Amino acid sequence: MEFSENSNWSKRDVKYIWHPCSQMKDYEELPPIVIDHGEGVYLYDIDGNRYVDVISSWWCNLLGHCNPHINEEIKKQLNSLEHVIFANFTHKQAIRLCERLAKILPEGLCKFNFTDNGSSAIEAAMKVSFQYHEQTGNPQKTRFMALSEAYHGETIGALSVGDCDLYTELYKPILMDIVRIEGPDCYRCPYGKDRDHCNCECAQKAEETFEKYGNETAALLVEPLLQGSAGMKVYPPLYLKKLRELCDKYNVHLIADEIATGYGRTGKMFAFNHAGVSPDIMCLSKGLTGGYMPCAMFVTTQKIYDAFYDEYNTHKAFMHSHTYSGNPLACAAANAVLDILEDGSVLKKANENALYFNKIIKEKFASHKNVGDIRHIGLINAIELVKNKTTKEPFDSKLRTGYQIYKKALKKGVLLRPLGDIIYFNPPLIISRKDMAFVTDVALECLQEVLPN
Ligand SMILES: *Cc1c(COP(=O)(O)O)cnc(C)c1O
Repeated sequence: MEFSENSNWSKRDVKYIWHPCSQMKDYEELPPIVIDHGEGVYLYDIDGNRYVDVISSWWCNLLGHCNPHINEEIKKQLNSLEHVIFANFTHKQAIRLCERLAKILPEGLCKFNFTDNGSSAIEAAMKVSFQYHEQTGNPQKTRFMALSEAYHGETIGALSVGDCDLYTELYKPILMDIVRIEGPDCYRCPYGKDRDHCNCECAQKAEETFEKYGNETAALLVEPLLQGSAGMKVYPPLYLKKLRELCDKYNVHLIADEIATGYGRTGKMFAFNHAGVSPDIMCLSKGLTGGYMPCAMFVTTQKIYDAFYDEYNTHKAFMHSHTYSGNPLACAAANAVLDILEDGSVLKKANENALYFNKIIKEKFASHKNVGDIRHIGLINAIELVKNKTTKEPFDSKLRTGYQIYKKALKKGVLLRPLGDIIYFNPPLIISRKDMAFVTDVALECLQEVLPN
């Protein structure tokens, strides 16, 4: 193509826009792609090029772009109410949403507090936990625990509990002092076990940490079963059960960050469903609105709620708010998502397809000399590239191996966006087997161009 409409718009973009999580200088070589419209798993740029959105636009698009039912429900809501203050006022969409979620969430979660992005749901959950202990005679519980390589968002409190150096290292001087538990690392298991045959020996580390710090800790935050930003690291449900026991023993809240894992991503509606235990607080966002509207929430128990319920002048209320809390358009989208998921057929089909997806990924990638680990949960599959398969030594990150693959895949119509040198697939639940075959073929081609076997 001689003249690309994209390039004109891209130039206008970079003149003003500072994109998230980007070194803007990279945009000199790879200008932003101007998307015109989306349909199902596809995105189309203004030159008509198609991209399979195999990362669900940062893991939030659940049921495809421009889903007719969700579109329709948002439009209907738009014609009656776009937004209303959520203190002292309410609306039907929010009420219906909470009634429906209360029925499907892990047992005991029944009180809903809305925010407008995942990080602020995490921070609200941390505040509520601290305040609970303060108001129930445990003011010494002022600290938070989290796992190594955790990711819980980017605002200062959420960043503090996180432990991905790429995002946190620089800011350490201004972050909170968090109690860090050495978490599971199934690919490089220090106990020499593998994730399908172990007794979560690594929970010993959590036990030791609780012994030392349990008394001063308000809550433990955890990404259940899947540490997304750490590189789609998967660990067994038993580990969650063990954390639950420790939290009970030391009167520490268990906060489940299901922002990435909720809504069927792990094969069940919520990752905690695999473990058969409930957290004290759960945070949701991303899939909650199908990836349509910014919306998030924490959900908690009657017990925690009751510790705040009193006469106004006791000052026990949770005085936390966000302007767009409970936005009706977002709640309409969230209800539409539940309409679609309600009868279970979407998730059932996704789970059948997940077996196929993992099978073809293993067939295509396992024999490559730089593929160290292939791990999966639900439709999510990750391929960890290493320099040396035997020693599991990673590549020098300066080589930006994953990024080279990303650029090549874009040219071939697949939006991959690896996490460092971990190529992963986290597609909308509705992806077809044909597209699974296509994206894995493209990913393999690109891998072989960058790292010939
Ligand atoms: C995306 C994400 C967050 C942060 O959500 P934002 O809406 O981006 O602030 C927190 N925790 C996990 C596990 C996430 O994947």
